[in-house]
Amino acid sequence: MTKIIDGKKIAEEIREELKSEVLALGEKGIVPGLVVILVGEDSASQVYVRNKERVAKEIGINSEVVRLPAETSQEELEKIISKYNADEKIHGILVQLPLPNNIDAKRIINLIDPKKDVDCFHPENVGRMMIGDARFLPCTPAGILELLERSEVAVEGKNVVIVGRSNIVGKPLAVMLINLGATVTVCNSKTKNLKEICASADILVSATGRAGLICEEMVKQDSVVVDVGINRDAEGKLVGDVDYIHVCDKTHCITPVPGGVGPMTIMMLMRNTILAAKNSLS
Ligand code: NDP
Repeated sequence: MTKIIDGKKIAEEIREELKSEVLALGEKGIVPGLVVILVGEDSASQVYVRNKERVAKEIGINSEVVRLPAETSQEELEKIISKYNADEKIHGILVQLPLPNNIDAKRIINLIDPKKDVDCFHPENVGRMMIGDARFLPCTPAGILELLERSEVAVEGKNVVIVGRSNIVGKPLAVMLINLGATVTVCNSKTKNLKEICASADILVSATGRAGLICEEMVKQDSVVVDVGINRDAEGKLVGDVDYIHVCDKTHCITPVPGGVGPMTIMMLMRNTILAAKNSLS
C-alpha cells in the first residue's frame, strides 16, 4: 500500500527537536538570531516571511523582520546587510527572493557573511557543499533528504531523476544526492524523452512549477515520488507538479502538496540558524 509522506508531521517532530537545541544553547547564554529582509510587496513572499517569523518564534529563535519598500536602493539594502553582518546577536541573514528588478540580487547574496548565509546561496557555501564540506545545506533540498531519511527511503545506489535544474532546488539537490551515493539524472525543459527517463527512476523528484507535468505513465511501479512544485489549479487550489490522484496508487511512497516538502523548507531554515549560532561559539 502506498505510504503518504506526511511532511507536516515530520516538520513538527523536527520543530520539537530544534526547541530542545535552542534551550540547550540558552544555557550557554546564546539565543539564535535570524533576520529576514523583505523588499517590496510580493504577496507570496509576504506569506513566506510571516510563516518564517511564526515558526522562529515557536522554536525560541529571536527573529527580526525588516520590511522595506520596493523603491529601496541597492546602496540602502547593502548598508542594512552590512549592519547585520556585524551584529553579534544575529546568526542568520535571509534576503527573501525575488528582489525587485532595480536590485542586483547576486551582489546582495555575495555580500551576506557566508557564516550567516542560512539559505546557503553564497558561492562559498555552494562550493563547500559541492565538495562535500558543507557549512549549511540549502533548505528545500535538505528538507527533501530529511523527508526521505525519516521515511526510511535510502538513496545510496538508487536511480534518482530530478526534473528541474534551478539553483534553489534541482542543482543543489543533485549535488547532495551524488555526495550520498545516488545515481542522479537532472532534467530540464529541453530534455528529450522526459517520460522514459522519469519512468526509470527509483526516486523521482519534480521541481518545475508545472501543474500535472508528472503523469501516471512517467512513474515506475513502487517508486518514490517527491513533489516540490507549488502551483494553483484552475479552481485556485494548491497543487504540485504531480498528477497526484492518478500517480499515488502506483508509488511506494509519495509527498502530497500541500503538506509534503513545503513545511520542511522552513524547518531547515531554522536548523541552519541554530547551526550558525552554534558555529559562532567556536
Ligand atoms: P524555476 O522556475 O527556477 O525552475 C524550474 C525548472 O523546471 C527549470 O529548470 C525548468 O527548465 C524546469 N522545467 C520547466 N518546465 C519543464 C518541463 N515541461 N519539463 C522539464 N523541465 C521543466 O523554479 P524553482 O526551482 O524555483 O521552483 C520549482 C517549483 O518548486 C515551483 O513550483 C516552486 O514554487 C516550488 N518550490 C517549492 C518549495 C517548497 O518549499 N516546497 C521551495 C522552492 C520552490 P529550464 O531550466 O530548461 O527552464
